[in-house]
Amino acid sequence: MGYNLPLVSAGRSAALEADQSDALAPYRNQFVITDPALVYFDGNSLGRLPKQTIAHLSTVINQEWGDGLIRGWGHGWYEAPHRVGDKIGSLLGAAPGQVIACDSTSVNLYKAVMAALSARPGRHSIVSDALNFPSDLYIIQGAIAHYGNVHNLQLVHSHDAELTVDLSAVEAAITTDTAVVLLSHVTFKSGYIYDMQRITAHAHAHGALVIWDLSHSAGALPMQLDSWHVDFAVGCCYKFLNGGPGAPAFIYVNRQIQDEVTSPIWGWFGQKSPFAFDIHYEPAAGIDRFLAGTPPMIALSAVESSLDMIVGVGMHAIREKSIALTEYMIALFDAHLAAHGFTLGSPRDAAIRGSHVSIRHPMGYQINQALIAEQKVIPDFREPDNLRLGLSPLTTSFTEVWDGVDRIRATVSAGLHHKYPAARKAVT
Ligand SMILES: *Cc1c(COP(=O)(O)O)cnc(C)c1O
Repeated sequence: MGYNLPLVSAGRSAALEADQSDALAPYRNQFVITDPALVYFDGNSLGRLPKQTIAHLSTVINQEWGDGLIRGWGHGWYEAPHRVGDKIGSLLGAAPGQVIACDSTSVNLYKAVMAALSARPGRHSIVSDALNFPSDLYIIQGAIAHYGNVHNLQLVHSHDAELTVDLSAVEAAITTDTAVVLLSHVTFKSGYIYDMQRITAHAHAHGALVIWDLSHSAGALPMQLDSWHVDFAVGCCYKFLNGGPGAPAFIYVNRQIQDEVTSPIWGWFGQKSPFAFDIHYEPAAGIDRFLAGTPPMIALSAVESSLDMIVGVGMHAIREKSIALTEYMIALFDAHLAAHGFTLGSPRDAAIRGSHVSIRHPMGYQINQALIAEQKVIPDFREPDNLRLGLSPLTTSFTEVWDGVDRIRATVSAGLHHKYPAARKAVT
């Protein structure tokens, strides 16, 4: 396949041409797009709705639930967390039997952190970074409190205004006292991609376990959890996996350690034989022990339907388009936005950049409001000054990137953002 980037100087027509020769362009029609003029740069926060999900959910609701009733458990519901988990695993370089779809990312992180800490008694340090998503850091803080404050959280700071983290600084923080290293594979503000293989190998050399949060990388870039010997990973299904608002998340536990670690939540779905109704808990073998309770079948069905499409496309093709989209966005940024007080908030090197581009501006919060209210552009805002522009390879077109940048330029050059308040609302 391969992409020739549209020439910035050739304007919008070059973007239209790039869409015409893009082998993934037809996938955009597989999603609900009610307003073709809307530039949607937030698929990294809530992916668009696949059309086939509507039909699939209607079947699940009418036939499986409405007609089948409780018989659904015998027709695929019971296995769904596994079946969906294995499909997710196929995008992550994980062989079957190591991923389950369940709970939220935060809850799965809690399970992984608690399991990892109890598997490394006598070690006192947890390593993460200051760019990590707050929920990840809160989960660690809660786990530390739970274990009686015997651990300390070491946060590695960015050396370049929150764009990247120096890998050797992370390595230096990992010692033989480190129990767990927990990092986001792709950081949520700048989109920096960690070298997962290198940090995992370094942590293992010091006897520590690793937990990777894949929320911004699952469905956006390929990876090899098994061959990189990752211990735990968690991630989100409503972003690049298009599973719907609040979709169940996933957890990966490497087969090599599955029987040595335990979930902190001893629910009946994680029991060896739930339907024996034994009053004593015995953990199930394998990944099952990380299940807690009944799967939310309607929400899980939405995840499965979307995954079937993504698995069919394959992560290499998706990553190729993702790089082309972010490269084009940055070329347009240099030509049209850099002169308007913006700075680039993402790495320039595509090899360490995920599928969103952050642009920073002192009035970013106001610009974000003006774009949504007046320009039919939906980015999102992340403190203190980041406008995140998420580019979803299956749904974002090159023309959309061109239009979005053009409208951002027009907004700022006309000063449309000045009338919006700087005071933050509850949800940004
Ligand atoms: C989106 C995201 C989450 C989301 O957690 P929820 O429990 O689903 O709200 C967690 N971690 C990271 C890094 C994220 O980007």
